Amino acid sequence: MKKNITSYVMPTYGKKSLLFTKGKGCYLYDDKNNKYLDFASGIAVNSLGHCHPRLVKALNNQSKQLWHVSNLYLIKNQEKFAKLLCKNSFADKVFFTNSGAESIECGIKIIRSYHSHYKTGKNEIITFDGAFHGRTLGALSAQKNKKYSKGFGPLIPGFKKVEFNNKNKLRSAINKKTAGIIIEPVQGEGGIRPADLSFLKYLRDICDKNNILLFFDEVQCGFGRSGKLFSYEWAKIKPDIMAIAKGIGSGFPLGACLSSNKACISMTKGTHGSTYGGNPLAMSVGLEVLNIISKRSFLQNVDKVARYFWKQLKELESKYETIHEVRGAGLLLGIKTKINNLEFSEILKKKKLLNVPAGDNTIRLAPPLIVSYKDIDKSIAIINNVLENIK
Ligand SMILES: *Cc1c(COP(=O)(O)O)cnc(C)c1O
Repeated sequence: MKKNITSYVMPTYGKKSLLFTKGKGCYLYDDKNNKYLDFASGIAVNSLGHCHPRLVKALNNQSKQLWHVSNLYLIKNQEKFAKLLCKNSFADKVFFTNSGAESIECGIKIIRSYHSHYKTGKNEIITFDGAFHGRTLGALSAQKNKKYSKGFGPLIPGFKKVEFNNKNKLRSAINKKTAGIIIEPVQGEGGIRPADLSFLKYLRDICDKNNILLFFDEVQCGFGRSGKLFSYEWAKIKPDIMAIAKGIGSGFPLGACLSSNKACISMTKGTHGSTYGGNPLAMSVGLEVLNIISKRSFLQNVDKVARYFWKQLKELESKYETIHEVRGAGLLLGIKTKINNLEFSEILKKKKLLNVPAGDNTIRLAPPLIVSYKDIDKSIAIINNVLENIK
């Protein structure tokens, strides 16, 4: 007999104590029926909150018709969803995945295959400090962050890390071998650090001049979270490739890698695949999420609510010494604290405000995009109260 086993789940996520049994809109309920205001959203995943009636309906309807067929057959909603994604973005083609990391892997393959196709001899990809792209070996190699990659070496060669938001360092890092640049327009795990819009424009320019592909990781900051459908829109430029996931399914596992025709020239029959990617269940949900989020009035409202939230948080920043800085974009906001962020996060959780710690001593607030002014006020009252007691 094995002794003292409390869990058969591999303990990679550490100790857990909360058990949620029900979710509705911006609220989660635990097994003792305590109500929590969910500004974590499953780490920026539940874009339309919990159990949105239109998504429940879409998934239920699909689940009665057909769960899965392979990508050897046509999947009606896959074509429809891909078309809608392209119509609403820079992209010409979509590859469907099941997660953010898989979308990143696809993008890395697109970059390498493009340069292999044109025999440019380029195969190095530039990434940035503080970046997070997922947990696969390709993603770990890209972010070169020891916190995540320790013990998993050797990593994949061909990635070079450069200081975030530093034009000079970037310029000197580029050479004849540079094939692509991967960047999160707003770093999530790294501490909710937005790239300067002028930096993003600079990247576009330098990529154009040097036949380098620009790859945006919008897994966390995309899909309406910034107040525009994709956060690159704020910089008025377009990437060549973009990874998305998280908010795209509002909780249904789903991701995608979007590409221009130019970039994915070599992604032809047999070059890439996924058993589940683009599965009918996922497509029915994703399509409905995009139908809702891509509406102008929806995004305008996200922007308005986000600005309201921003203003309240900035007032707390000027009121309390404990706050070092409030930063972010849209409804992806970070509070950098002068106390330990993990402790701060826990205290807020005890006060029934769910949030997620991020790098650089921040806590992250990423409410569902359907959040109301009233719930924003409620969160501000909780944060204010906690800061008042820390003072
Ligand atoms: C979460 C995240 C990923 C990885 O997504 P998974 O679905 O966990 O594989 C990649 N990039 C960014 C920016 C993320 O926030």
